[in-house]
Amino acid sequence: LSARLDGLGVTIFADMAQLATSTGAINLGQGFPDQDGPDVIKDAARRAIAEGHNQYPPGLGIPALREAIARHQHRFHGIDVDPEREVVVTTGATEAIAAAVLGLVDPGDDVLVLEPYYDSYRAVIQMAGARHRAVTLRAPDFRLPVDDLRAAVTPRTTAIVLNTPHNPTGAVLTADELAAVAQVAVEHDLVVISDEVYEHLTFGVPHVPIATLPGMAERTLTISSAGKTFSFTGWKVGWATGPAHLVSALFGAKQFLSYTSGAPFQHAVAEALDLPDSFYSSFTADLRRRRDLLCAGLRSAGFEVFVPDGTYFATTDVAALGFTDGLEFCRSLPTLAGVVAIPHQVFFDDRPDGSNPGRTLVRWAFCKRDAVLTEAVERLRLIS
Ligand code: PMP
Ligand code: GLN
Repeated sequence: LSARLDGLGVTIFADMAQLATSTGAINLGQGFPDQDGPDVIKDAARRAIAEGHNQYPPGLGIPALREAIARHQHRFHGIDVDPEREVVVTTGATEAIAAAVLGLVDPGDDVLVLEPYYDSYRAVIQMAGARHRAVTLRAPDFRLPVDDLRAAVTPRTTAIVLNTPHNPTGAVLTADELAAVAQVAVEHDLVVISDEVYEHLTFGVPHVPIATLPGMAERTLTISSAGKTFSFTGWKVGWATGPAHLVSALFGAKQFLSYTSGAPFQHAVAEALDLPDSFYSSFTADLRRRRDLLCAGLRSAGFEVFVPDGTYFATTDVAALGFTDGLEFCRSLPTLAGVVAIPHQVFFDDRPDGSNPGRTLVRWAFCKRDAVLTEAVERLRLIS
């Protein structure tokens, strides 16, 4: 293995998905819905294949999708971008994040991340030869400690990878928190790579893209994906919008990673983005109901639950049930109860003294059918 991969190991999502498959446990680990998105959008993908959209599309993405992304950014966020120069389609948000970091961050740079951090951030920052600097969100409410954010900036800091709504905590940054991030970014002339894949998955609180704050449009890449919004995580269609100089830096890397992303799904996602408001609102309302179902169930099973304002995920502290290590808990959970979950600790840096602020936190996905959530809770009652 190259030094670039030192210590990265196997992503927890593959690890826990494999555990779910080998044990037949209910998988509340990896975040994917167990019901597909709308049939009309599946039909659009089939039609795109039948109509012959099967050869390399343009590297930046098909014009119809770039235009639909620009319309979506205007419709939901009041962000105006030029589909020809300020939008790029990627192979999932994952590639957008990787290409943004590779295209904008130099070896030796420091990059701020919110901890617990989605695992690909740390990996790709390391692969770029840079160093991540964590700003820790802490239970029970996972608010952004603004003083810690300021203190984490070094003379070598060039970028922030932001994530709101936040995986794994489910926190949604408030207007004040976003303003503080923006102030730090402007003051230190930082680029913001803003991962907003859960932009439509908030429950009664607004999601505000940081690109809409004063001074931010010119320094922010806003990243999202069709996976979460339309329940097609396996299609891997993502995108980034932002000023032309940042989009072209991202594309400068993307052209040599994948050059372009699969054609037929781009046609289908272009149609999905124009679905009526009722699609978006009923999807969110339905997910909110499942959040409540799972959180109430976990609580009744004896867990300490931190109810999220957004995303697919609820967090619990398993210390309340007498467990001292979330990773060990998750490894034994298929045997204990026939359920799979994700330990937070892998999204934290181990501290020099060996401690880890996420040691006993565990994440549960609620983007599953009611019957599956109910059955999972029934099983979890056995261990409390
Ligand atoms: N960022 C976050 C915060 C995520 O939770 C995920 C998982 N969907 C991704 C990025 C990756 O998205 P995609 O599947 O579109 O690559
Ligand atoms: N984003 C999803 C999660 O957080 C899946 C990620 C993955 O499989 N890489 O669970």
